[in-house]
Amino acid sequence: MLHGDLLDLCRQAGVKEVHADTLRACIFRRGERDFLSMHGLPKLFTHWLKAHVCHPSVSVLHTQVDTDHTQKMLLRLPYGGEVESVLIPAAGRITQCISSQVGCAMACTFCLTATAGLQRNLHTSEMIAQLMQAKWLMGSYPRNVVLMGMGEPLHNYNAVARFVWIATDPAGIALSPRRITLSTSGLVPAIKRMQADNLPCNLAVSLNASNDTVRNDLMPVNHKYPLSVLMPVLRDFSAQTKRKRVLIEYVLIDGVNDTLKDAMALVDLLADLPCTVNLLPLNTHHGTSYRRSSDAAVQQFWQTLNSAGYVAVVRQSRGQNISAACGQLKAENIPPKD
Ligand code: SAH
Repeated sequence: MLHGDLLDLCRQAGVKEVHADTLRACIFRRGERDFLSMHGLPKLFTHWLKAHVCHPSVSVLHTQVDTDHTQKMLLRLPYGGEVESVLIPAAGRITQCISSQVGCAMACTFCLTATAGLQRNLHTSEMIAQLMQAKWLMGSYPRNVVLMGMGEPLHNYNAVARFVWIATDPAGIALSPRRITLSTSGLVPAIKRMQADNLPCNLAVSLNASNDTVRNDLMPVNHKYPLSVLMPVLRDFSAQTKRKRVLIEYVLIDGVNDTLKDAMALVDLLADLPCTVNLLPLNTHHGTSYRRSSDAAVQQFWQTLNSAGYVAVVRQSRGQNISAACGQLKAENIPPKD
């Protein structure tokens, strides 16, 4: 809920609007779960809230912790369905990966979540509930948030934008806009909308190929928004917004997009785009016949980008022992319906 919504609640309940500030601090800053034990609010108002307002919460169906301390949760949503959220520790900080849809409509051919198709969009409260679950578990909100879990965030723009505004509200959860990253398969109109709305978060784009032929095979969205359309939009986003550096994600798949020629074509494609490149060796799963690139191919790809002056990082798959690739925990625990 944005502050305006909290004010509405106060009006509906017939209490002073000043209580909206206290409510915001209780729910979002402190992450309190129980309306009745919230201090600083009139008792009658807390009972009214309990009767009329659904607190953003999810239930944890299953948790897996890897030896590298990556923790993956399978969460049951209040409005039905299950999604995953992953807590990834690095250098004493936690990054949380948040889901935005149950399933996904983008049909990327290497992705497990894609095999289920889109079931539904998450409500804003269901995304906030994922953050709150992390706070209840760890005692504080994660330092970094990436919208890279299940779903295509820009296919659920309104709810995701509200999530970003609420998560960055300085009087509430107070995440730094520099520490939220929204990852998209490249839905061009919604990227332009993010730019027009000045949405306070970073942009990541899953490129995964350096030419349209390969990208069409991996990501059907490319038929609609090919590289010749997508790339100028990314350059414009970088030039016109405060978030200059776009994060480029590139899943490395053996023999498909990982050759020296592919790396050199990527260097050309990214010319004049201030960016960082995340190289993600494919996490294999039963839903795909693609294979992960060899270590030598990953090294060569990284070296080519690096020599051309790009900041490239190989994301060694965290949580490999616990199936932390997109959609895998869910697939293990909830067999797909026929
Ligand atoms: N729909 C959004 C966010 C969800 S996918 C997007 O496309 O960006 C988040 C990231 O995981 C994307 O970069 C995607 O390319 C990558 N990904 C999906 N399946 C993967 C797998 N099996 N192995 C490695 N990365 C994968």
